[in-house]
Amino acid sequence: MVNRNRPQYREFRASELFCPRCRTAMPVRERLLLVLPDGDLFEYCCQGCGSSLGKRKVEADGASKLVLAR
Ligand SMILES: [Zn+2]
Repeated sequence: MVNRNRPQYREFRASELFCPRCRTAMPVRERLLLVLPDGDLFEYCCQGCGSSLGKRKVEADGASKLVLAR
């Protein structure tokens, strides 16, 4: 199951995202939002004000993508 041919960004995680309310890049907390048939949906919340700053979807095949809130 170890895939050594994949590049580094395979397990991409955001540790900081820009928070419009705090007006700066803030550390974020990741929490499981939804379990979907094709993967898990995580939400990133600002650790300062608790705003939802984005979502990350981890698909069943292990691919993960970041969706920023707008
Ligand atoms: Zn904030």
